[in-house]
Amino acid sequence: NGIAPREQALIERRQKLLGPAYRLFYAKPVHVVRGEGVWLYDPDGNAYLDVYNNVASVGHCHPHVVAALSRQAATLNTHTRYINDVILDYAEKLLGYFPPELSHVMFTCTGSEANDLAYRVARSYTGGTGFIVTQLAYHGVTVAISEMSPSLGNGIQLGPNVRTVPAPDLYHANGQDVGEAFAAAVRAAIADMREAGIKPAALLVDTIFSSDGVFADPPGFLAPAVAAIREAGGLFIADEVQPGFGRTGEGMWGFQRHGILPDLVTMGKPMGNGHPIAAMVAKPEILDAFGERTRYFNTFGGNPVSCAVGQAVLEVIEGENIIQNARDTGAYLRDGLRALATRHEAIGDVRGVGLFIGVELVKDRATRAPDGEITAKLVNGLRERRVLISAAGPHANVLKIRPPLVFQREHADRFLEAMEATLAEIA
Ligand code: PMP
Repeated sequence: NGIAPREQALIERRQKLLGPAYRLFYAKPVHVVRGEGVWLYDPDGNAYLDVYNNVASVGHCHPHVVAALSRQAATLNTHTRYINDVILDYAEKLLGYFPPELSHVMFTCTGSEANDLAYRVARSYTGGTGFIVTQLAYHGVTVAISEMSPSLGNGIQLGPNVRTVPAPDLYHANGQDVGEAFAAAVRAAIADMREAGIKPAALLVDTIFSSDGVFADPPGFLAPAVAAIREAGGLFIADEVQPGFGRTGEGMWGFQRHGILPDLVTMGKPMGNGHPIAAMVAKPEILDAFGERTRYFNTFGGNPVSCAVGQAVLEVIEGENIIQNARDTGAYLRDGLRALATRHEAIGDVRGVGLFIGVELVKDRATRAPDGEITAKLVNGLRERRVLISAAGPHANVLKIRPPLVFQREHADRFLEAMEATLAEIA
């Protein structure tokens, strides 16, 4: 199978210790020991270009973030039941990136916990339980949230309170208005819930539709669906775990592209550049009922070390013009991919925004029939060239391109060369 004995031994040790539920990437898994910027290194010092990790968003092991973490870890780390200004400084700075209506923040450790909290808050505010998500959504690991994460596959039974709607897929829309079609599906889901005696609580979407196959266009397409859920007395929850913190190159959040104001926003992954910190941002009036009825305590959520890390990440985003870079390098990369498409028939669509790009591989451009096989070959072929990437979408035929946001044109060139060589080899 081409796996070296050292890695084979580690794989066996992993299985023995961690059990059967974990999955490695690649038929020939990658062994990494160090990261820096857009690079990951194996034990022999070989560099892998990371075109996939949206967590280490300001670059692996960014020195400013590492220094902030070490400094605060050496000073104080405790929970949120004492007065301390680190959490307040960070909360103030983070909320500064939101419209003024979204003015409370609650901290968690993972995106799953943030979505789970949003679920509880939406239930307490609306008195409903019904949730609408997209057909291949992923929102997290808790019982409630895994039951609204259909991308987990057949092993997951969706909750009786959950309805799914097709993602707004412009490439397969046949000229339909995707925003109107999406809203119509949301209205149908609401009607279906009501028939079952379920009161709608919220529409929850990843505003870049990462696991559904990366959908960003046309800007504004979410607005009619948001209106539809509000009309039914439900909330709109923007899951910004994937697009948040500048990845779209247009601002900090994916929802901004759609000109909408969410009721609740959840975030995580890039928030701590690899350190576990996540959050839910809310309109205060929506949080009131929840706060009156219960208290919230998350032992590690909002601890000073995590907040110092979050603060340092924001400082890097500002200080290194990360958002501008996501916009410029993203546009450059999409141009390069579109040039590749002129030479390679298998590339059916190049889409996305900023440094969140989807490349859909097809058997035939006329029918747009998915080609999951060539996509898998491409992902594995790139791995052989030490370029790390993965795929998403219903037929696993959409390359998901979301490198650390410090990705430069030279890295894009390297990626494009590897794509060209791999496509030529596969053909
Ligand atoms: N929402 C989305 C859109 C995600 O992609 C993920 C993680 N892949 C989560 C929520 C859950 O975040 P976490 O893994 O930090 O719990």
